[in-house]
Amino acid sequence: MEVKRYVAGLFQTNSYLVIKGDKCLLIDPMLRLEKLAALLEGKELLGVLYTHGHFDHIQKGDMIYQKYGVPLYLNKGDFDLVDPNKSFKTNAMSVARQIFTGHIASPLHDLWEGRHQIDPFEFEIVLTRGHTMGSVAIIMEDAIFCGDTLFKGSVGRCDLYGGDERLLKDSLRFYKELEKNYILYPGHDEITDLAFEKATNPYLK
Ligand SMILES: [Zn+2]
Repeated sequence: MEVKRYVAGLFQTNSYLVIKGDKCLLIDPMLRLEKLAALLEGKELLGVLYTHGHFDHIQKGDMIYQKYGVPLYLNKGDFDLVDPNKSFKTNAMSVARQIFTGHIASPLHDLWEGRHQIDPFEFEIVLTRGHTMGSVAIIMEDAIFCGDTLFKGSVGRCDLYGGDERLLKDSLRFYKELEKNYILYPGHDEITDLAFEKATNPYLK
């Protein structure tokens, strides 16, 4: 399995291309379509996995669906974050929610907790709420795509809509209790690994 990282979008989101042979998956793709088309040349894209539903991760979803017709997977806990019928509707919503709201009008598949197989890829989804209600860890071989739950030296904010500090602490405990030294691919900033974070990240103490 090969993982390639591309930084794109207003908030410098990490987009990942995961490759096995001539098959690939995209995680939080925010690349422009022309760039994506060049990267995918000669490969078969099987689907798009989202670590969570914030706009700076999902905003290219409809464009990708229209061009490639592949399934888009997001944990259902974040479906309301991306629902165009719910977004921007009431002034009771916080400014923060509006800023971070993106839309996906294309059909979404629930990235449910448990083992998944999208041949030749096998992975496990663990719900890691706190940053949002549908934030997940995507565990694939030696890699964990951790979205905005855990960063190199830091953690994701939990003051936005759907955020919850107590749940984030539970999710960090999940990372603390993992024994294997996974490579961590976060939603922003540099790639790191779990042993390094356990030794240096104050939120994993
Ligand atoms: Zn986020």
